[in-house]
Amino acid sequence: LYNMVQDLKGNIRVYCRIRPSFSSESKNVIKFIGEDGSVVILDPAKPQKDGRKDFQFNRVFGPTSSQDEVFKDTQPLIRSVMDGYNVCIFAYGQTGSGKTHTMSGPSGGSTRDMGINYLALNDLFQMSNRRKDIIHYDIHVQMVEIYNEQVRDLLAEDSSTIRSCPTDNGLSIPDATMHSVNSTTDVLNLMKFGEMNRMVSSTAINNRSSRSHSVLTIHVHGKDTSGGTLRSCLHLVDLAGSERVDKSEVTGDRLKEAQYINKSLSCLGDVITALAQKNSHIPYRNSKLTLLLQGALGCGHAKTLMLAHVSPEEDSFNETISTLKFAQRVSTV
Ligand code: ADP
Ligand code: MG
Repeated sequence: LYNMVQDLKGNIRVYCRIRPSFSSESKNVIKFIGEDGSVVILDPAKPQKDGRKDFQFNRVFGPTSSQDEVFKDTQPLIRSVMDGYNVCIFAYGQTGSGKTHTMSGPSGGSTRDMGINYLALNDLFQMSNRRKDIIHYDIHVQMVEIYNEQVRDLLAEDSSTIRSCPTDNGLSIPDATMHSVNSTTDVLNLMKFGEMNRMVSSTAINNRSSRSHSVLTIHVHGKDTSGGTLRSCLHLVDLAGSERVDKSEVTGDRLKEAQYINKSLSCLGDVITALAQKNSHIPYRNSKLTLLLQGALGCGHAKTLMLAHVSPEEDSFNETISTLKFAQRVSTV
C-alpha cells in the first residue's frame, strides 16, 4: 500500500521547512504558508505587490512544526525501503536554516526531538519486527562525509579518506565500514561515534561540518520464507550549507571549499532535474555525491525527497529566495 500511495505522488518530491525565528529585531519575510504547500515571501526592499514571490511545494512545514510532523510525512517513503525501493532524502539550505536539526535533532546530543535519521531506523526496526514471520530483515549502516570531493568514512576507527566508486548495483559505498544494527541503542552509539569523528576534524578546520555533506546510508536486506530476497537502501543526506560566499571576501582554502560546495550542489540539482524531466542522459559523474548515490537516484525503484530549509529572517532574504528557487527547480509540482 505504501508504494501505491507513493507512486501516485510521483518519485521526486520537495518539501519546505521554515525554522522558527531567533531574532526579535529582524523582521520575518515569510508572509504566508499554505496547507496546500504554498509559501509566499515578501521582499523587504519592495514591500509593495511586486516584491511578492510565490512558491509551490508538495508540503510546507511552518516554524512551529514538530519533528514528528515532519517524520510522519516522510514515513511512507522510508517504509517503501522495506519493500525494495531505494530512497534518497536530502536536507538542503543555508547554514543555520535547520538541516541538521531535521536530520539528526537538536545540537547537544539530547535524545529529545530526535531527527529523521533516528526515527527512520527506529521505524524500520519496528516494521522488521512486525513482519518477522514472513520476512527476515538485516539492517546495516554506513556513514561518510564528503569534503572537497573527498570521501571520509565516519564509522571507521581511523576515519581516513577512502576511494570510492559505485559497485555493481551502485548501492553501497565499497570501502566504507558497514555496521550491523539491531536496536536503537546500536544506532545511537554509531551516530555518536560518527558525529565525534566529524567534530574532530571540524575543530581543526573551523566548523567544517557545515561545509561538508554527510551521508548516512541504511542498507536493508530481506529474505522471505520462500527464499526470495530483496536489497535496498535509504540515503539520508545532510548537505553542506548552500550559501554563496562573496568571492571578494574569501581566498585560499575557504574559496576552494566554497567552489566545491557550489559545484556539487548544482550537480545534484542537475541530476534531480534531469530525472524529473526523464532525460536520457543523467549527469551523475559530475560530482562525488551524485556518483555515490547513483544507484539509488533515479533507477526504476528509486524515490527522492528534497527537504528545503529556510530561515525566516529578513537578513536571510537573498539566501531564502535562492534556496526556494533551487527547490522549485527540482520539484515537479
Ligand atoms: P544547519 O544544519 O542548517 O546549519 P542547524 O540544524 O544547526 O542548521 O540549526 C541552527 C540552529 O537552529 C540550531 O541551534 C538548531 O537547534 C536550531 N533549529 C533549527 N531548526 C529548528 C526548529 N525547527 N526548531 C527549533 N530549533 C531549530
Ligand atoms: Mg548542520
